[in-house]
Amino acid sequence: MEDCLFCKIAAGQIPSSKVYEDEEFLAFRDIAPKAPVHILIIPKKHLADLASCTEEDLTMLGKLNLLANKIAEAEGILNSGFRLLTNCRADSGQEVAHLHYHLIGGHFLGDFCEKQ
Ligand code: AMP
Repeated sequence: MEDCLFCKIAAGQIPSSKVYEDEEFLAFRDIAPKAPVHILIIPKKHLADLASCTEEDLTMLGKLNLLANKIAEAEGILNSGFRLLTNCRADSGQEVAHLHYHLIGGHFLGDFCEKQ
């Protein structure tokens, strides 16, 4: 998708601090981390947000959750715990309109409703 920041990162046109990549997903460090570990996990397929997903995306969404476990383990936060969240549309404060999950951890995270 033209003019999508995360599509450009997925295509390697914009550099990122990559922590994982396969045919379907890319994970990279957030440029403005809110915690010691703050990684964004994206499907390479352009989807604007979670609300744009359909049954066609069920398998991808499931795989993404298990990938979060794998990355959390590699980052050493599987046992201490982490948060996996996605912001969806205006009231969430979503800034980038390409589906992405924030994987956050490395210290106690506190208030659930704070914008990530
Ligand atoms: P959201 O507000 O859920 O849309 O989150 C967008 C996230 O993307 C924010 O946490 C930003 O810090 C992060 N971000 C924006 N540009 C980049 C970039 N070039 N590389 C890594 N993370 C980015």
